[in-house]
Amino acid sequence: MRIGNRQGRAVILVENGTIDVETTSKDRFSSSIDEAISHLDEVRSWWQSAAVGAPVDAFDESMFHELGPVVDNPSQVFAIGLNYHAHANEMGLNLPEVPMVFGKFASCLTGPFARVPRVSEMTDCEAELVIVIGRRGRDISVDDALDYVAEYCVGQDMSDRELQMRGSPAQFSMSKSFRHSGPVGPWLTSSDEVVDPNDLDIICKVNGQVFQDSNTSNMIFSVRDIIAYVSTVCELRPGDIFFTGSPDGTGKGQSPPRFLQLGDVVSTTIERLGTISNEVVAPM
Ligand code: ZN
Repeated sequence: MRIGNRQGRAVILVENGTIDVETTSKDRFSSSIDEAISHLDEVRSWWQSAAVGAPVDAFDESMFHELGPVVDNPSQVFAIGLNYHAHANEMGLNLPEVPMVFGKFASCLTGPFARVPRVSEMTDCEAELVIVIGRRGRDISVDDALDYVAEYCVGQDMSDRELQMRGSPAQFSMSKSFRHSGPVGPWLTSSDEVVDPNDLDIICKVNGQVFQDSNTSNMIFSVRDIIAYVSTVCELRPGDIFFTGSPDGTGKGQSPPRFLQLGDVVSTTIERLGTISNEVVAPM
């Protein structure tokens, strides 16, 4: 099952269009994508009986701009820094001994095809696997960790390297939380359709040129490790999301460094999960 946010309403994506969750369920579920995520098991079992004959709204690639953020207002947005060896090297930073956790503040989340602002001369992009938590929990074991994941999607961790490196030590949360710096989507793919979240090809292109080409198997700390580690401190709640870190090949890692320019189009693809695409524009 694929769930998305189309013009602010939760929809289920099918082969030839979208199904509105609220109207098709006769108001059993609201139009809120966050509500759908927090009642995902119920939505899923309803959908199994409602799928046949449900009214389909036409939807194709020409309407992708109608898609909004697949998580709109989570209580927590965790992000993991330096989680791929080659990326830590290109940033000139030591490998972390434990997951390096920071926050992307929730107001940065935006649609999968949203325009993103060039906030400084060192505006950069980072392709990342994003995981969506489906169950509440603390002190989750590594073995049980994937049971807490409801959905996966593609994310971009847009980053202002100028702000990130302005002081010492570097700081992450502020430099990665500007408006529209967290595109997520294009839709949510159920965890049962993703056999192994740490075996997915992940690619980022700028104007069609490959910047990042890796696989989530190259993470230093796996999805399981990250969930278990963060849950030793923070309660995880349905709808919380994790940006799980970026492979090498960011703009800062190009030689010479190549930061984003006005008019650039950043397209980010993860195997099984789809592609998001974001044009770089002047700050809005
Ligand atoms: Zn990142």
